[in-house]
Formats: sequence, C-alpha cells, structure tokens
Amino acid sequence: MTEGFETLTCLQEIDLKIVGIEKSREEFPEQLAELEAVLQSATSSLDALREKLGKAVKTKSDLKDQLETAKSALDRSQERLSAVKTNKEYDAVHVEMENFKHTLAGGEKRMEKISDDIAKVEAQIAEVEGEAKSRTDELTPRVTELREKIASIDSDLSEAAAERTAAAALVPKQLLRAYENVHRGKKDGRVISIVNSTDRTCQVCFQKLQPQVVNILRRGGGINHCQNCGSIMIWQE
Ligand SMILES: [Zn+2]
Repeated sequence: MTEGFETLTCLQEIDLKIVGIEKSREEFPEQLAELEAVLQSATSSLDALREKLGKAVKTKSDLKDQLETAKSALDRSQERLSAVKTNKEYDAVHVEMENFKHTLAGGEKRMEKISDDIAKVEAQIAEVEGEAKSRTDELTPRVTELREKIASIDSDLSEAAAERTAAAALVPKQLLRAYENVHRGKKDGRVISIVNSTDRTCQVCFQKLQPQVVNILRRGGGINHCQNCGSIMIWQE
C-alpha cells in the first residue's frame, strides 16, 4: 500500500459514517412515523369498539325501561280486566293487553339480540386489547430507540465532523486534495476502492479492471482513479 493510504481509509470510514447519519436523518423519522401509525391504528379500532359497546349498553338499558313500562301497563290492564262490566269494555282491555304482550315479546327478543351483540363486542375488545398490548410491547423499544437516535443526530454529526477534521489532518496533502476532489462529487461518500488481487474489480462501481491498470496498481506509487467511477483505487494483495 502506498504510504499515507491508511490515513485515507480512515478518513473514508468517517465519511461513510457521516453519510449513514445523514441518511438516518431522513429515514428514522419515516420509520418512527410508520411505527406510530401502527400503534395508533390499534388504539383507533379499540376506540371504535368501545364506542359501539357504549351504544349497545345504552340501547339495552333503554329497552329494559321500555319493557318495565310495558309490564306495568300489562299489570294495570290485568287489574282492570277483573273490574270490567260490559263485553265491549272487556274486548277493549283484552286488545290492549294483547298489544302489550306483543310489545313485551318483541322487546324480549330484541333484548336477547342486544345482549348477544354486547357479549360479541366485549370479546372483540378483549381480543384487540390483547393484540394492541403485544404490538405495543413489541414496538415500543424500537420507537424509544428511534426517538433517542433522532434526538442525537445533530450531536452525532458534529462529533463525526470533529473526527473527520482530526483524520484529515493526518493525510498527506496531495492525497487529501485528490480525496476531497472525488468526495465532492460523491453523494454516497465512497471515495476509496480497495482492489484485491483475486477479483480485480473496482469495489465502488464493480467495473472489471484492465490488466494494465492492475499492473500499475500492483506496482504501487501515485494516485490511481477508477476510469469508470473516479474513486481512488488502493491495491490489496
Ligand atoms: Zn469504479
């Protein structure tokens, strides 16, 4: 390896770390939003089920009142029946009682149905609550981790920038100039391409190298760029 190249690879590592941190500035908030949406959806479906349960319980209680009213009305009619004096009166009270009985029978049927519905919604709530709990238990550590990472992005970046300054100071001037020239044009931060004797390929763009290029690299000395991607190639036996 040409002298000074180790200092370049060190600089390269820091630059890749910086690219990683910058990428996480975009990706972590997106990942966090996705996880929070998953957690929120469980809460929303629970809210909807609880609202449904509340309505059913209210309907049941209203119906119970109606049934009680119909029952006492039926009892009153029953009492009047024993006191009627004419057939006409008897028929009228009888019709009235039949109506109340009909109302009661219908109401009791509805009562059964509502009680069934309530039991079903309660079972659904228990199920969704269980799912929501395991999902929360599963996702919360990742959510916490992401929030912490997002909060430390700025300090991580300035820490890495300081490391970079220190590492760059150790690189021979000519090499540093070449490195920075390539680095400016690379969004992915990959400047150094380690080429090994086995596959003889640029590790940045995966272009197969010409034999004469391999020979130059093997001899060492000078700064050699990949003709395809411009990265600085370093030979490794
Ligand atoms: Zn290349």
